[in-house]
Amino acid sequence: MIGISWRREQGLADPLLKRILEEAGLDNVPQWNKEDDVRTAAHDRWMELAEERDGPINPEQQIIDDPATVTQRVFAKAKELGADLVGCTEIRPIMVDLDFDMPHKNVIGIVVKEDYANVLRGSLAIEAETFHVYVEVARIATELAAYVRELGYPAWAHHNGITQIQAIPTLYHCGIGELGRHGSLINPDIAANFRPSFVTTDLPLEFDQPLEFGVQDYCEKCNLCRNNCPGDAIATDHIVTEGIKRWRIDMEKCYPFSRLHDAYCHICVDVCPYVHKENGDTEKRQIYKAYMKQRKEDGYRSPNRL
Ligand code: SF4
Ligand code: SF4
Repeated sequence: MIGISWRREQGLADPLLKRILEEAGLDNVPQWNKEDDVRTAAHDRWMELAEERDGPINPEQQIIDDPATVTQRVFAKAKELGADLVGCTEIRPIMVDLDFDMPHKNVIGIVVKEDYANVLRGSLAIEAETFHVYVEVARIATELAAYVRELGYPAWAHHNGITQIQAIPTLYHCGIGELGRHGSLINPDIAANFRPSFVTTDLPLEFDQPLEFGVQDYCEKCNLCRNNCPGDAIATDHIVTEGIKRWRIDMEKCYPFSRLHDAYCHICVDVCPYVHKENGDTEKRQIYKAYMKQRKEDGYRSPNRL
């Protein structure tokens, strides 16, 4: 299957970011110029894991006459390896990078949650957690792909070190969450505070269905992410792509805050009330209230603490 989704390049390979950096008199993303052991170690680790994305397939293939049972086994393995959420679906062209010929039929989405308490420790703490979780999901995908190959089926891991899978449409069809105004998927238990990885495979699986629990209706009246975005980058009106309602992020307005400061901006996700709204987590609710108090004191659109 040939992919149809354009992937935004990172750093100077992205012409829009390159122009914004030049206009700000910068030759690179400031965070990438600074010495950062956490970032370097994480990058080295997921590049190391990229070397192990594929491997030998057990020639004694298990005959699968009950995809539901094997799906449960694979999901249990993913959880044993450390995944918080797992889902799977059939691969569609929109899930694959433009012009890439994906040899596999199915994809498993893997998610590990981030510690929301970092919002009170500042953006560098949020960023360090992000790198930690990206390494975790890369390890889980790598080990899960090896597990599937041991069942006798081809499988590749996809993560920050190497991927041809587009996260948002894939996780949507894996039933991980509903698309919020801020452009991320919201899960009832862990909101949008998570990082993903994937395994593509030909292992027969029982597919999940998209998850809908009223997020998009709530977003119509909530607007907290839009009203807190320092770049005013989040759309008022929605569009529809492949039958799915979504709100666009204007990257020209987002980049000055998400790429030109000491740490990545994560405000739109962190102000989302779904962090406590559906799961009834009282500890997260207290953290959320304290964080929103900070935002109010700073001014809702403030880029302070980035
Ligand atoms: S902050 Fe509000 S509008 Fe934004 S994604 Fe969350 S629920 Fe939707
Ligand atoms: S990352 Fe920051 S600047 Fe970008 S859309 Fe979210 S809140 Fe706005």
